[in-house]
Amino acid sequence: MRFVDEFRDAVLVKGGLDQIRRLVTRPWTVMEICGGQTHAILHYGLDELLPPEIELVHGPGCPVCVTSLELVDKALAIASRPGVIFTSYGDMLRVPGSNGDLFSVRASGGDVRVVYSPLDAVKIARANPGKEVVFFAIGFETTAPANMMSVIQAHSLGVTNYSVLVSHVCVPPAMHAILSSPIRRVQGFLGAGHVCTVMGYQEYLPVAKQYRVPIVVTGFEPLDLVNGLLMCIRQLEAGQYRVENAYPRAVTLQGNQAAKALIIRTLETCDRNWRGIGLIPASGWKLRPAFAAFDAEKRFAVGEIHTRESPVCIAGEILQGIKKPNHCPAFGRQCTPDAPLGATMVSSEGACAAYYRYGRFKEAV
Ligand code: SF4
Repeated sequence: MRFVDEFRDAVLVKGGLDQIRRLVTRPWTVMEICGGQTHAILHYGLDELLPPEIELVHGPGCPVCVTSLELVDKALAIASRPGVIFTSYGDMLRVPGSNGDLFSVRASGGDVRVVYSPLDAVKIARANPGKEVVFFAIGFETTAPANMMSVIQAHSLGVTNYSVLVSHVCVPPAMHAILSSPIRRVQGFLGAGHVCTVMGYQEYLPVAKQYRVPIVVTGFEPLDLVNGLLMCIRQLEAGQYRVENAYPRAVTLQGNQAAKALIIRTLETCDRNWRGIGLIPASGWKLRPAFAAFDAEKRFAVGEIHTRESPVCIAGEILQGIKKPNHCPAFGRQCTPDAPLGATMVSSEGACAAYYRYGRFKEAV
């Protein structure tokens, strides 16, 4: 398949790895921001093929993993109400809240449905005028345009029984939080290719300059990842800290103008709690007042939420690159994909799920 096969070419990947091996002179810690990249790295065994000087740590770019426990608990509370059809992407159904998950709400009689597009949720609302239909609008900059398209569509069709529980987060503030931490380990980033497809990479220029870190926008196939790493290591070895684009077939400096215009029209910046990490100022988006009628938090006035996270879960440290999943005492024991204690073991983009699936059980050093 075009744009896939050539980026899985084993000879080219090996050539890139050889170049990295020849280039590296000292240890470097590089964070891939996106959970999709984490899974691809482990799937293709790239972490085990790199020279020992290069350590990859796994960033907070898994939307399911960083959706705050408060919002998961609000989702559970709304989904439990009679007369509500609660719709969500599939991964969110197994994410543990303080008391159960959306599957347990469904087992107790709640009408919880998986949708593959938020526009399907609008269709459900139109087909069920006597019900309140809520969509769990989670994700980074990548999913925001489609999620907000559903609000625009409901608005223009006059659908009044549709609302969204918004939990949008943004990558650059998380990078600031990681880089300004006193226990920072990250020296370079592989930027998330799909986020940059929407947003471009202009907003990373001041981050690279302020913290003197190279940032390389990177795709998801093995050759993309090796090329991104090669460019990042080349900069680190040369003492440079620029933003480079290793994913030019999808990403431009300015990004997708139409998608960005839709985001600007519907969303405004807000502080957000990141699960396991805590509050990051100005790190998320909420609906603009003009679209307040579609805000599920306002419509349902969920009230005081008391959250209770598993005390053994170290997902917050994993998402900041401080620890690895196999450092967690519960990894593969009390916590497995069938019985997850934290969101990073649930999501198809979660680092703990990737380590479990690809057998990285040996404790990292
Ligand atoms: S293995 Fe489970 S408990 Fe440990 S950090 Fe990952 S999700 Fe949390």
